Amino acid sequence: MSAVTEQARLADRIIALEESSTLAMTKMARELAAQGHKVISLSVGEPDFKTPAHICEAAKKAIDDGFHGYSPVAGYPDLRKAIADKLKRDNNLEWKPENIVVSTGAKHSLANAIQVLVNPGDEVLIFAPYWVSYSEMVKLAEGKSVIVDGAFENDFKVSAAQLEAAITPRTRIVMFASPNNPTGSVYSEKELREIAAVIERHEGVYVLADEIYEYINFTPEGHFSIGSIPAIKDRVITVNGVAKGFAMTGWRIGFIAAAKWIADGVEKLQGQVTSGTNSIAQKAATAAFTGPLDASKEMAEAYQRRRDLVVGLLREIPGFKVNMPDGAFYAFPDVSYYFGKTDGVTVIKDSDDFSNWILNNSYVSTVAGSGFGAPNCIRISTAAADEALVEAVERIKTAVATLK
Ligand code: PMP
Ligand code: GLU
Repeated sequence: MSAVTEQARLADRIIALEESSTLAMTKMARELAAQGHKVISLSVGEPDFKTPAHICEAAKKAIDDGFHGYSPVAGYPDLRKAIADKLKRDNNLEWKPENIVVSTGAKHSLANAIQVLVNPGDEVLIFAPYWVSYSEMVKLAEGKSVIVDGAFENDFKVSAAQLEAAITPRTRIVMFASPNNPTGSVYSEKELREIAAVIERHEGVYVLADEIYEYINFTPEGHFSIGSIPAIKDRVITVNGVAKGFAMTGWRIGFIAAAKWIADGVEKLQGQVTSGTNSIAQKAATAAFTGPLDASKEMAEAYQRRRDLVVGLLREIPGFKVNMPDGAFYAFPDVSYYFGKTDGVTVIKDSDDFSNWILNNSYVSTVAGSGFGAPNCIRISTAAADEALVEAVERIKTAVATLK
């Protein structure tokens, strides 16, 4: 190996890290589109709506009012207060502003929480299918991901009995999202109470509750926060943000609400790594959390309509097995019927092959289920215009009909 190659070697932790498959597919879709192909990009989970006007106005005002300096590491006091009020209003969660730390997106909040709680070798139980970044965040903290599979037959959800069986003396965190990405599954209050009863019995175990899709919930009961169960409240780190519910993905605001020692740990970490997050975006987020929720409700209605549309169309494709998502904006069909089939040139072995083949043959970008811990499935974002969704599913249907 030459000296130059030796020096150009990345650190082992980065070599070991997988690239985010959601972002990798989105990049490939952009590249194909730049080459002139008519790509329908359904790989990134991102609202196609604009941020509501009153939120944008608050950001403009923040610029005019001179919020140009470093913000406090844990977030502006008015934003932390707004989040505490929101948690009380929506989630039956009583936390003080000092329990809240604002970060650069919910992704950052999750990564921070894992960094401050996980020692090398600690186990993090992840309910699968899971969002692609969970296992990689655990890897960065030198923890060990233990995957607990939610069965298709149980709407991809993990039962309390499965959780009980997976806990060991090394378990530090149990993490999952409800509503879930990629399945759209929503854990009911009853299911969460059963899970909480298991957690209660295991003292050193914490719950990392990812609630970023809270407002995109189609169940009549609506969202329930596991942190609102008093017996385990101090052991639940609730993560949320503005990206999905307010169509604010690019503003990059997320938060944790947790016991003070955990919040303090996150603040300490953040103080050395990123400092306080974007000042203008924080003012926008304050407007989001204190303002009306009409726009969020309208967006959720649109996602529900699109879910019905896309799931209905996908179920017409021979061999596709499709669950009915109760929230978020994804469809997650099991496409394993096509594994082993070929177009005469390429043999489709797995979900990665399937997703790549669909992209290259019908110019619809999806994400393989493998990165989500569900190798039989692909993820299709339904956060796109109805016409694009109809055309995308039609293209997929036409393409797979050629496979033998
Ligand atoms: N959790 C889940 C389940 C997600 O799908 C995403 C994707 N955005 C995030 C967290 C991160 O959200 P943010 O954009 O606020 O970082
Ligand atoms: N959460 C979105 C997704 O799953 C955004 C992309 C990402 O950060 O992974 O597609």
